Amino acid sequence: MMHDFDVLVIGAGPAGLAAAHAAAAHGMRVGVVDDNPLAGGQIWRGGPEQQRDARAQTLWSDLRAAANVRFMQRSRVLYAPAPKQLLVQTPDAALTLRYGRLIIATGARELLLPFPGWTLPGVTGAGGLQALAKGGYPVDGKRVLVAGSGPLLLAVAATLRERGAQLVGIAEQAPLWRLARFGFSLLATPSKLAQSLRLARQLSGVPYFANSFVLAAHGDDALRSVRLRRGAKTATIACDLLACGYGLLPNVELALALGCALDGLSVRVDELQRCSVDDVFCAGEGSGIGGVDLALAEGRVAGLAAAGLSTLALAAVKHRQRWRGFAGRLAYTFAPRAELRALADDDTIVCRCEDVTHGELRQHDSWRGAKLQTRCGMGPCQGRICGAATGVLYGWRPDAVRMPIVPARAGSIAAACDHTTV
Ligand SMILES: Cc1cc2nc3c(=O)[nH]c(=O)nc-3n(C[C@H](O)[C@H](O)[C@H](O)COP(=O)(O)OP(=O)(O)OC[C@H]3O[C@@H](n4cnc5c(N)ncnc54)[C@H](O)[C@@H]3O)c2cc1C
Repeated sequence: MMHDFDVLVIGAGPAGLAAAHAAAAHGMRVGVVDDNPLAGGQIWRGGPEQQRDARAQTLWSDLRAAANVRFMQRSRVLYAPAPKQLLVQTPDAALTLRYGRLIIATGARELLLPFPGWTLPGVTGAGGLQALAKGGYPVDGKRVLVAGSGPLLLAVAATLRERGAQLVGIAEQAPLWRLARFGFSLLATPSKLAQSLRLARQLSGVPYFANSFVLAAHGDDALRSVRLRRGAKTATIACDLLACGYGLLPNVELALALGCALDGLSVRVDELQRCSVDDVFCAGEGSGIGGVDLALAEGRVAGLAAAGLSTLALAAVKHRQRWRGFAGRLAYTFAPRAELRALADDDTIVCRCEDVTHGELRQHDSWRGAKLQTRCGMGPCQGRICGAATGVLYGWRPDAVRMPIVPARAGSIAAACDHTTV
């Protein structure tokens, strides 16, 4: 089945919703594709109408009421069968969507770095445990250590505490002086300052260890304790769950599959969020990690520009600028320290899908070589987790993205082939 849209948005997080809203308000036929059951992306998981953030509610009520917007939830983009077309797998069909302009707003994922014991049951990503808890996973009464880096740790800890977890500590790898400088810089963004103070209140009494990182997780059939480096000392902390993530990484697979250029790890965009490929835009975490306010500002710019309203889009650029400054301070403050590269020992698994260890991988000198010899990155996650880890550990860059960009039903591919040959 073929469907046509003036503007097609991939991702229904803050960036995608803001982009769809801006384009739809100016009469475009807008399609929004998202692989979650509900819109909202990571931060508004559970549905935008359920959020305290009024921006989520406004965007959602306008979009739901708009006759020119169609949402496709539980739907994943698989690949581009032809120029200006995307093949999308819904729960029960495969659709080909044709677009005039495409906005990629596929967000980010966590950076997980291997350390001894990180594959034990009870060890998850920080945002990963938050998503599980928001989805109903019981953390009530569990002793949880939140570790890694970035402001997400505080948001995660607050969510877990709200759901009854007993927080035994928050371990932040960034040194105290950087954190102090970052805290002072929040004066430039009063809404972020207010958010931090709110989180500090919610987390009062929880031990916060700056300049600290996980050395190893210990247990048998489950996690029992975590060994932490705290400054020059080490400490062992008993806990049931460890939620450990080292910040976020842009999801760039779709952009890469379409031939868009990257700047470092993010999709390259110009002033109006245009990618290096004609009629393709990128907004939100995919074009650089910066949090919800930057995602909303970029989404609006992309939506207006994709609707052909360059003057309005340029006016919206000003608002985006202050959040880009915040994003720069974020990247500097929470950059992973060098010691994190040396945590894995030879037996530590790096590629969890294919059980490939650090000892095996360090005998190779490139992602491609390691992939061919060890199957690293060839499991169900297709290198989404270990690809980033090998980037930090060995300086490798994963090679080209393979189609389909996410695991697909054979029937979806067959249906698309039938359609293409008709
Ligand atoms: C696990 C996690 C938890 C987070 N929790 C918080 C928090 O509590 N507080 C906070 O301030 N910030 C949080 N963040 C940061 C947050 O992601 C950003 O601040 C903000 O949500 C970014 O908005 P976005 O629209 O760019 O991306 P997202 O909100 O990530 O939205 C992107 C959407 O695109 C979808 N998608 C991706 N690829 C495809 C595809 N191929 N086909 C279809 N759909 C696709 C994703 O499922 C997602 O729904 C979290 C980030 C992560 C990764």
